[in-house]
Amino acid sequence: MNLDAKIYVAGHRGLVGSAIVRNLTAKGYSNLVFRTSQQLDLTRRDQVDLFFEEEEPEYVFLAAAKVGGIVANNDFPAEFIRDNLMIQTNVIDAAYQNGVKKLLFLGSTCIYPKLAAQPMREDSLLTGELEPTNEPYAIAKIAGIKMCQSYNRQYGTNFISIMPTNLYGPHDNFDLSSSHVLPALIRKFHEAKMNNAPTVEVWGTGTPKREFLYSDDLADAAIYLMNCYSGSDLVNIGMGKDISIKELAEKIGETVGYEGEIVFNASKPDGAPRKLVDINRLTSLGWQATTSLDEGLEMAYKWFLEHIEKNT
Ligand code: GDP
Repeated sequence: MNLDAKIYVAGHRGLVGSAIVRNLTAKGYSNLVFRTSQQLDLTRRDQVDLFFEEEEPEYVFLAAAKVGGIVANNDFPAEFIRDNLMIQTNVIDAAYQNGVKKLLFLGSTCIYPKLAAQPMREDSLLTGELEPTNEPYAIAKIAGIKMCQSYNRQYGTNFISIMPTNLYGPHDNFDLSSSHVLPALIRKFHEAKMNNAPTVEVWGTGTPKREFLYSDDLADAAIYLMNCYSGSDLVNIGMGKDISIKELAEKIGETVGYEGEIVFNASKPDGAPRKLVDINRLTSLGWQATTSLDEGLEMAYKWFLEHIEKNT
């Protein structure tokens, strides 16, 4: 991408999109275009077509999606499959129709089979049953990947798909009913500290393991791959290291400075037992993460204090 190339970041207010915008701007890309969901409803094909015709972006980062944690996925399955299928179909097809040079689609590691061998390799996609709590979301994301691959094959487009592990950072969703575990625990531990609560409730048994990547690292990887990788093969993006939910809770307790006790509520779902990605393809392409979990947690907690806590 030239520094003056016209780049559309779909979902620029979200965790991933905002990190991509920050990172592009820091690298000197100056011709960025974005719209809020009020200005452009990506589930509406007519609006998407009009936007692409008017703006003629050359590159697209498709970071707009309906995302949420384990309970949100369980409670709103229709919205997760519908909104994601509509958004990605509209944007990917409009990108093709309007001659976009390259598009980057975001998959997710939760679309690998529930019992995929760990660490999960890219070629484990579609080799087994999905985790039932987020199957509708996963099916939509798999459709997006297949759409990019099919367009590349039939129409000669250059649409790449990356598979980020669990992400966290600025502009994360800290709403306890719909967020992922890391921001949820930042909020729970912070509130427990402020209220001098003797215990903090952590869902599930604490034994599942997850990998966490800071959103700015993901953005850096996405821009790197946009510049130096073409092809239909997926690329996992992660740290290559995971941690149990119990260890994560303890770390967040330390970051926040909470001194009470952690209680596990096993009546809430554990979800997949483990989700660690194999990052061999990524490292062989020449990229690796630079933010440790400890550094990332400090930055995420700081952002929470400055942006969320202050307004509640
Ligand atoms: P997943 O990675 O798709 O399973 O989604 P989550 O990030 O929502 O959950 C990961 C794990 O953290 C699951 O085992 C949850 O039960 C556990 N967990 C513990 N406490 C919480 C919490 O307060 N919120 C969420 N979302 N998950 C939690």
